[in-house]
Amino acid sequence: MCASAAVSLRRRWFTGGARTKRRLFSGHPGIRSIKIKSKGVEVEMNVLVINCGSSSLKYQLINSDSEEVLAKGLCERIGIDGSAIVHQPAGGEKVKSEIDMPNHTKAVQLVIEKLTDPQVGVITSLEEIDAVGHRIVHGGERFAGSVVLDDEVLAVIEQCNDLAPLHNPANLIGINSCREIMPDVPMVGVFDTAFHQTMPKKAYLYGLPLSYYEKYKVRRYGFHGTSHDFVSKRAAELLGRDIKDLKIIVCHLGNGASVSAVQYGESVDTSMGLTPLEGLIMGTRSGDLDPAIVTFIAQKEGISAEEVINICNKKSGVLGLSGGVSSDFRDLGDAAQAGNEAARTALETYGYRVGKYIGAYVAAMNGVDAIVFTAGVGENNAQARAEIGKYIGYLGTNIDPEKNKLRGEEVILSDEGAKVTVMVIPTNEELAIARETVRLVKQ
Ligand code: ADP
Repeated sequence: MCASAAVSLRRRWFTGGARTKRRLFSGHPGIRSIKIKSKGVEVEMNVLVINCGSSSLKYQLINSDSEEVLAKGLCERIGIDGSAIVHQPAGGEKVKSEIDMPNHTKAVQLVIEKLTDPQVGVITSLEEIDAVGHRIVHGGERFAGSVVLDDEVLAVIEQCNDLAPLHNPANLIGINSCREIMPDVPMVGVFDTAFHQTMPKKAYLYGLPLSYYEKYKVRRYGFHGTSHDFVSKRAAELLGRDIKDLKIIVCHLGNGASVSAVQYGESVDTSMGLTPLEGLIMGTRSGDLDPAIVTFIAQKEGISAEEVINICNKKSGVLGLSGGVSSDFRDLGDAAQAGNEAARTALETYGYRVGKYIGAYVAAMNGVDAIVFTAGVGENNAQARAEIGKYIGYLGTNIDPEKNKLRGEEVILSDEGAKVTVMVIPTNEELAIARETVRLVKQ
């Protein structure tokens, strides 16, 4: 990052509302006087956003008024030897502390300790956290939007566990740990799947016996919904148009990647399925496959179907295709540049798959007004965008190669005369969760 960008980032982190600044700099314990309403006027809240995995917990404390991140961090290796918390206050350096974290409750305790620490903290007490927003991976068909979490709702979320056995139980552990430590603080759950619940049957049903859907709810759910929602709304704002008039294709291209068709503000199709394995070729995930491949490889290699699925999740994608070079697009680009044939093929295959999905979604919506790139690769990787660009030119996208070199900022890549606007919009799932949390708590 250049020096001026670093300064402007620091400034952005610190230019919260007056109340935020008071909190950051005065350190006075009696500051927290305002909650949700003051003389009937709604005021700002501090929202703790939690994204809990089986052995990790990511957090951000966001002020709802300024939408600034006051502090953020990560607890890693929870329940494993060598656990640590990495905490970063606004504008400050990252501080890593190696502390034993036998469970998530201990991790949440440490997060609160860091947030209220006299040196690296940004609030004076737990009392200054007004709400907690939790990312929850799978809401099945039960949740088409965010919810305030209570015992009843948590019991329903638990019923979705078998649809996301690696993620949902971890999300629930995080929620329960927060409830234990902050019993009076309202909590909201924001689901990765909720935004896609508007998909019509023709998009979410697989060509399988209907009984599997009826008995086990085997269908396409889709993920990254918070991001697809956030980015499509922002695209409409930037275009100065009502989202209800727009057909938008969002390409969320990170380590995990998915494309969605957002017609008039609603998801009508998306590339991930029952699990986040379907669809695009990703960092380490295979994406779409002929399902017969699973048993074929299992037989040939003398391994179980579960082991093949594990390989499809963790050792495939551009990592597998490149012969193990990397799942990171920066390394792949460097390797391709240095003449590594497999790395070049991995990048070409990746771009081709995204291009095919875009074509499919143009058909699904009978047109498209805007195509948006987001997440790590979509926001930063000119080479991947150029690869994809090869398959969307027929739409009249007119991508400007100079603008395509820009990284990590909102930009329109297509020229003014383009029939379809191609844009880069950085996603911000934590901010989207904080906004949802505030909306529900205020309700
Ligand atoms: P996830 O949230 O799914 O873990 P991200 O959205 O953070 O993933 O995306 C990670 C990917 O983004 C990395 O594999 C890397 O290839 C790519 N990426 C991130 N920053 C850059 C950059 N500056 N230039 C090129 N690629 C980048």
